[in-house]
Amino acid sequence: MAKLYFRYAAMNAGKSTALLQAAHNYEERGMKVALFTAAHDDRAGTGTIASRLGLVRKAAGFGADTVFERAGLADDVACVLVDEAQFLSREQVVQLHRLAQCDGIPVLCYGLRNDFRGEAFPGSAALLCLADTLEEMKTVCACGRKASMNMRLDSSGRRVSEGEQVLIGGNDRYRAVCPSCFYAGAGADAASAPGLFG
Ligand SMILES: [Zn+2]
Repeated sequence: MAKLYFRYAAMNAGKSTALLQAAHNYEERGMKVALFTAAHDDRAGTGTIASRLGLVRKAAGFGADTVFERAGLADDVACVLVDEAQFLSREQVVQLHRLAQCDGIPVLCYGLRNDFRGEAFPGSAALLCLADTLEEMKTVCACGRKASMNMRLDSSGRRVSEGEQVLIGGNDRYRAVCPSCFYAGAGADAASAPGLFG
């Protein structure tokens, strides 16, 4: 039975790499996939999914107006893969859940669980509610513990704790950290937190 999967992690955990590997696994067996990513994410240019290991694939960009429905996909699509799934709306997550449950197309969503303030993204909140399978992709904090939070830094490496939820193109402005380091660094210069950057 097809399911909606949410594979979540902190920043730089290799989500895009894992997505492209999953797509490759389908295609290796002669099956067609549909790739989506957030249209406003210009890290690799609109409509591309770029892994930090160097793989790049074209993808359809989804925006607020995008409707995910069976009729919008090629007849022979075997799987839908969505990168930057934290930027989906709740309605879009419901559409993707229906694609899996009513139309029998597996949907694999990859994204962040929380933002730099420790708050939910709309897509992540809905996916945590509705996904049939939740899978955490683990990454490590500089202190050695599991990183599950995202710290935003300014251009000089100082912790930023207020501001807009989305910083376009700012992938290098985040550190994945454990909750302990996240709270220890609150309001302080992150670079001065003991052990934080090893
Ligand atoms: Zn830590």
